[in-house]
Amino acid sequence: MTTMTMPAGGAPASGDGKKRKDGLFPLRQRTGTAAFHLSKDAVGFGYEDLEKLSERQAVQFLAEASWGSSKVMPCAHCSTIDEHYWSAKELRWKCKCCGKRFSVTSGTVLADHKLPLPKILKLVFSWANGASGKPALQLRRDWNVAYRTVFTLIHKMREGLLRGYNTGALCGVLEMDGADMNGRRYREKRNKPLGGGSAGKPKIPEHLLKPKLEVDPETGEILGPPKPPKFDKTAKQHPDRRLLLVMRQRGKSHGKGAVATRVAIALREATHTVVAMATKFASAESRIMSDEDPAYSSFWKLFAKHDTINHSKTYALPGGINNNQAESFNWRMRRSVEGIYLSPSNKYLADYAAESAWREDTRRLSTGDKLRHLLKAVFGVGLSQWWRGYGQGRHRMEELLIEGPQEAKTRGKPKGWRQKLPR
Ligand SMILES: [Zn+2]
Repeated sequence: MTTMTMPAGGAPASGDGKKRKDGLFPLRQRTGTAAFHLSKDAVGFGYEDLEKLSERQAVQFLAEASWGSSKVMPCAHCSTIDEHYWSAKELRWKCKCCGKRFSVTSGTVLADHKLPLPKILKLVFSWANGASGKPALQLRRDWNVAYRTVFTLIHKMREGLLRGYNTGALCGVLEMDGADMNGRRYREKRNKPLGGGSAGKPKIPEHLLKPKLEVDPETGEILGPPKPPKFDKTAKQHPDRRLLLVMRQRGKSHGKGAVATRVAIALREATHTVVAMATKFASAESRIMSDEDPAYSSFWKLFAKHDTINHSKTYALPGGINNNQAESFNWRMRRSVEGIYLSPSNKYLADYAAESAWREDTRRLSTGDKLRHLLKAVFGVGLSQWWRGYGQGRHRMEELLIEGPQEAKTRGKPKGWRQKLPR
């Protein structure tokens, strides 16, 4: 009997086994993703359901999503959990303990919202349904709201995901990988024809040309070809380049891919950043799979097991050793960054990464469950720390990196008063 191993994500195994007679590559194992998206289960909920909601029903919907009940809830001021007095006129509750009033959005990222709740729900639902994301400009065109309103709203969702979803340790079989983001030399290429136009081809570095035999005229010594510049990844990298580090936990059910994702942004893929990420998000009894980058070399002593895969040779080894779920996330993130959000700034790259992680993990939830899942995560983080007062010029000044926050470059003119950071 021949045994055949297939990686969990459905990528082809390393060649043996299912080779077709005509000599083509083995077919990808079907995991049922297409069947799911075409099935009834994928669309449990639609605009029509949101269209029917009155302001009061929207409050109830949000209460169910964030507290699991519209009768019993914690008070936003004193956290007492009780059946508080409901005022149908004000659409608020009065606390049985401290007597203060609170609404469903009190103390959440949506506190002091100006748009009516049904409209917020529709905007958020529309944003959540994108496979890799949905641009704020498109939402603005679809729903006729100010750009800044929708930009702040969906950034509050991202904040909720970054602070409320991208937390906690993973355990089990984990895959880890890094991917380059931003930092392309687009500025030099802007407004220039493809192929360089009349500027001619770029000069080939001397050390790459066929060596010319040169003799020193004074000593008669034979000089060799010019030496190549020292190979140094960090010295040559673009200052705006960032590294997206991702860790994904494999699910138990065979062929269904990963179930949980954690992300972080780093300046480079080095031992200290990779170890910081792994010790933050992985429990010590985990088995970690990564590529053969030397940054991961200390993992064998930090975790129960560490397997590596050499991508220049194969994408999967027998025994389910592969990094393909992490690579699959990188693809979604790249589609999002290059195809939808068109190079988001480094300042908010961590926020966008958390959004992509959530989208990847909820890919098999129905539309209604996805919306509830999002609201549950976002409503759990309290008031917005980064987007309250954005319109008045209070912007987040840091870029969130695994190495620690770093002062961010800002775009455009500063608005209003802001504190200068000490240098
Ligand atoms: Zn209270």
